[in-house]
Amino acid sequence: MARLFKRGGEKKKGLWRRAVDLALTDVRVAVGGVDHESLESLEEHLLTADFGVDATMRIVDRVASLARRGKVSGASELRRVLTDEVTRILEPARSSYLELADDGTTIYLIVGVNGVGKTTSVAKLAHRIRDEGRTVMIAAADTFRAGAVEQLRIWSERVGADFVAGQQGGDPAAVAFDAIAAAEAREVDVVLVDTAGRLHTQRNLMEELEKVDRVIRRRCKGAPHECLIVLDATVGQNALAQVRAFSATVELSGIILTKLDGTARGGIVVGLQQEFGLPVKLVGSGEDFDDLSDFDPDDFVEGVFEG
Ligand code: GDP
Ligand code: MG
Repeated sequence: MARLFKRGGEKKKGLWRRAVDLALTDVRVAVGGVDHESLESLEEHLLTADFGVDATMRIVDRVASLARRGKVSGASELRRVLTDEVTRILEPARSSYLELADDGTTIYLIVGVNGVGKTTSVAKLAHRIRDEGRTVMIAAADTFRAGAVEQLRIWSERVGADFVAGQQGGDPAAVAFDAIAAAEAREVDVVLVDTAGRLHTQRNLMEELEKVDRVIRRRCKGAPHECLIVLDATVGQNALAQVRAFSATVELSGIILTKLDGTARGGIVVGLQQEFGLPVKLVGSGEDFDDLSDFDPDDFVEGVFEG
């Protein structure tokens, strides 16, 4: 995950680490334990860094319980306790590869609100799949936004992906259906279904997404093999609300976390895993096709707590 810190990485790491460092220095760890005020300060810092309430409570409880038993008597021990607990929270993300169809075409459905980076991530993922020597088809099921289809058509050509689109304003479920049929006929390995950035408060748009999902399920047993929600890391806690809203409509299998190059608050990764048990599978760190990486919990924790 070296690329995560590639651009603007220094600034991000600095800010992010500062929250952790503050916690480490503010927290008065002495022989005999950590005082109440210090725990509150740690709690505040974790919340500020977007760990979310659940993960923050879990981590602070852990520190408190070890401190009571006299097991946190120095900054390095505190650092180790924090590292261990975050590593434990992220453990399920360790095996978070993208699922493949047992045989035949694999289908990934990409969802999320407007502007989070769905279309960009679809292009990046298509690029990666091509790089791995597999064939890929992009289904432009965002028939909602003017220009969206054209943009994706150009990107498909650039990365060497097959492309299927419908009419502007047409039925997104029909686009998904046509794409899967074409992909199966041509024995394409992977279909990526890009969807409109529906506001999760707009019920008709959610119903439209539900229909896309239903059509995919009917058309192909076991599909979608991944339903990935794209989240913008810079929106912080709002990401948790988006997951909640989309979970009510589709069965999410993982997260593509974008714009990590633009935030100091990567703690959202920990919050999402703790609250929803939903692994971050891919990480976006820029606007180029190459700026997509697997999420590696060890690298992540190391990046956060190093120094
Ligand atoms: P969509 O509405 O969800 O399809 O979002 P788009 O894919 O159209 O992206 C919205 C904006 O976010 C565009 O300007 C992208 O270039 C930008 N973007 C997407 N992913 C990333 C990322 O990982 N890092 C940065 N810095 N920008 C990104
Ligand atoms: Mg889009």
